[in-house]
Formats: sequence, C-alpha cells, structure tokens
Amino acid sequence: MTHPRKLVLRVVAILLMVASISLNTQQVYGQEGIAVEDAAVEVAFGQTITFSAKVKSPIPIKQVSLLFRGVNEETTRVETLQAAEDGSVSFTYDASQNLIPPFSWIVFWFQATLADDQTYTSAPITFPYNDDRFPWREISQANVTVHWYAGDDAFGAAAMDAAGSGMLAINEFVPVSLSDPIDVYLYSNVNDLQSTLLLGGEDWTVGHASPKIGVVLAAIAPGEKQSIEMETTIPHELSHVMMYRSLGGKYNYQPVWLTEGIASMMELYPNPDYAHALEIASANDSLISFDQLCASFPADAGNAFLAYAQSQSFVTYIRETYGTSGLTRLTEAYGDGFTCELGATNALGTPLSQLDARWRESVLGQNRAGAALRNLSPFILLMLLVLVVPLWGAIDMLRQRRKHGNKSK
Ligand SMILES: [Zn+2]
Repeated sequence: MTHPRKLVLRVVAILLMVASISLNTQQVYGQEGIAVEDAAVEVAFGQTITFSAKVKSPIPIKQVSLLFRGVNEETTRVETLQAAEDGSVSFTYDASQNLIPPFSWIVFWFQATLADDQTYTSAPITFPYNDDRFPWREISQANVTVHWYAGDDAFGAAAMDAAGSGMLAINEFVPVSLSDPIDVYLYSNVNDLQSTLLLGGEDWTVGHASPKIGVVLAAIAPGEKQSIEMETTIPHELSHVMMYRSLGGKYNYQPVWLTEGIASMMELYPNPDYAHALEIASANDSLISFDQLCASFPADAGNAFLAYAQSQSFVTYIRETYGTSGLTRLTEAYGDGFTCELGATNALGTPLSQLDARWRESVLGQNRAGAALRNLSPFILLMLLVLVVPLWGAIDMLRQRRKHGNKSK
C-alpha cells in the first residue's frame, strides 16, 4: 500500500492577534508531496473568515482544495481553489449566517492533486473562532471561566458566584465534572448576543448554550437586576452543558420540555411571571399539550414563555411525585429512543398524556370535579343501578296506585 499522505507541513507556532491569526509554518519538503507556507487565517467575526497560504510542490499542481470544519462538526466543507503561479491560494468564507458557533475551534487543511495524479494532504491546523469584537476580561474558578466586557470586578465576581451556586444545585441532579472547562461569556445586551447566534436567534433569547464545546453565552447588563439575571440565566445554561456531558449522544433524544424543564428548575431565582402565565393559560384553556413540546418550542415570544413556564412546573411536579430518580429514569428511557409518550410509560408507568392531565389537575387545580368523578365512575354506575332500579319500581307502584285511586273516586 502506498501512503500518499506525506505530512510535510509542521505548525511551529500559532500566533494569535486581534483580528488576524498568523500561522508560522516551517517548510519541509519531502521527495514528493506538498508544502504549505505562510498559512494564515483572518477572522472578521460574524462576517468573514479568510484562509490563505502558499501551496508548493516540486512537480506541477493540478488542483488544490481547502477543507475545513468546526472541530465538533461532522461535515467538512470543501472548496476547490485556483492556485496562482507561486502557489498562492485564498478563500473567504461567509460567516454571517453564524453556522459556526462563537468560541469554537475550526480546523483546516489542504489537499492537492499533483501532475503524478496522486493526492497529497497537508497537516491540519486549528484556530479559535472567537468573538473578538469586545475587550473581554476574565475570572476563573475550578473549571469555570467567566468572561465579560461591561461592568466592574464585582460584576465578574457576582457572575462567578452565580455559576458556583448553579453548579452545586445541578450536582444534585447530574454529576458535575470539575475538570472539563466551561466558558461563560456575558454580553451586556441582547443585540450583542443575538448577533452571534444562528440566524440571529429568537428576539427573546437572553441565554444560549453550546453544550458540545462547553460554552455558555448570556446577555446580562450591569445594574440593579444583574444578580437576579445571573442567578437565573447562568445556572440554566450551565445545566444544559452538564446534561450534555452526562448524557452524551443521548442528550439529543430528550424531549425539549424535559431538558428545558430541568434547566429552568435549576434557576436559583424562580421567575415570578411563570405562575402568572400558567394561571392565565389554564383559565383560558390555552395551555400547550406536552406532546407538542417534544421536538421544539414555539417560535413566538408569548408561547415560548408559556412553554418554559409549563416545562418548569411540569418537571418540578414529576420530581416531587417520582423523585430525582424518576427524572433520571425518564432521561434514560428517552435516551434509549422511546417516543415522547412511551418514554414516560417506560420510566414512570404513566404515559405522557396522562402525566399532563394529572399535572393540570394537581398543580393547576383544573377539572378537580371531573377527576374525582372519573375516579368514582365505576362506583357511581353501580350506585345508579342499585338505586334507580328499585326507585323506578317504586314510582311505577305509586302510579298504579294513583290510577286505581282515581278510578275509585
Ligand atoms: Zn434552556
């Protein structure tokens, strides 16, 4: 077997600069193959990523391709490039769709087909795709690093406290690792945050987690409300990362109401508007049934808010009824691929639709009379039979008597 993959490129140093990343490479020619010189990446965050290099070889190059992907992505993008006479190639990727998550790593390499019809591959180079539009400051404790650019030292310290308390709360439910790093980036406003999210995000999004890369993003402005917002958003988003680390690939099989419900349950400061939203929706009969919250949440702000309120209340109800072990069984059943309805049957002995009805009855006080009647219905039927049959007989007897009486008058 021949080995066309002669790795002749060695990255000696990766120098990070504010806007452009210069990748010093040492040229090492083999007897054959390609050498990549002056490889560089220029990032205009959220706009473009420009890759450039000189691809050299001792024999003519027929074709050069640039290959790149996020280090945690499965699909590799392939771009066929036109090499100049000196081997220069360059490609500008449109990053405005935010398909590559901020603060992730991108890996790229080159492939060239030479005049000998062999294809040679260069060594991969990785670089960080960071949102460098802001003067980030940072504070670290254990495996958590909080980054922020607005607010003073106390702001960073408060965020770190919220992260620490959140981790303690989460640890009661999922094992928390203290070694894998987690980075929390605090934007000072929703616009700055949303400019980093896929398709701009939903306009109500104040927090976002990229569990695969251990990155949490949140919009929290320094000020009076900062602690409440930190104690709500940071534990919520951290718990998405922890659930992902605990469940691995099974995380993606979980119903959205369950992961969002658990994450919302970890918020240290209960949202007072949730109870109000539930009350109104219950009275208006506009609650969303949980089987509609399995694959995704509604896109509009009002219904999304209700979906979070419901999920938080529903998961809390399940935890109070079946214990933390019940919730764990539930995530395991869904992780095994059970459907939304049957995962609940498998884990808790009750299908989702019935859990939903019981939650409405016991938490929202809906249909109490109906529920009581349903529980009693076999007895009521029996009672009716026992009572009505003799009653009918008695009425009939009275009628007969009255008839006779009338006649006698
Ligand atoms: Zn969430």
